[in-house]
Amino acid sequence: MTQNKKYDMINIMRKTKLTGGSRCPNCGNEENQAKYGFNRSGTQRCRCGNCSRTYTLEPKNRAYPDEIRKNAINAYYSGASGREVGKMFGMSKENVFNWLKKTDNNK
Ligand SMILES: [Zn+2]
Repeated sequence: MTQNKKYDMINIMRKTKLTGGSRCPNCGNEENQAKYGFNRSGTQRCRCGNCSRTYTLEPKNRAYPDEIRKNAINAYYSGASGREVGKMFGMSKENVFNWLKKTDNNK
């Protein structure tokens, strides 16, 4: 892998982290949402920097947002293997390949 491609992927990862969306159920704010540990069942807890409310991300909401999906696919096409993409975005490579398959079908 060339250096440039590596930088591309790091940029993609950064963007994903910035927009990787939790939203406060209290005030609806999407900014200043900080990770705040986990509850007993291992669900991610978040804290809103706007209204200070803590909340857990519903399992349903853990489905990956379009943004992440798009970035994962981009990373794959900029030269990462399915396994590498999975590692970068914290998902299984099967998941990545599923997305690729679905994307191809949409064409
Ligand atoms: Zn809030």
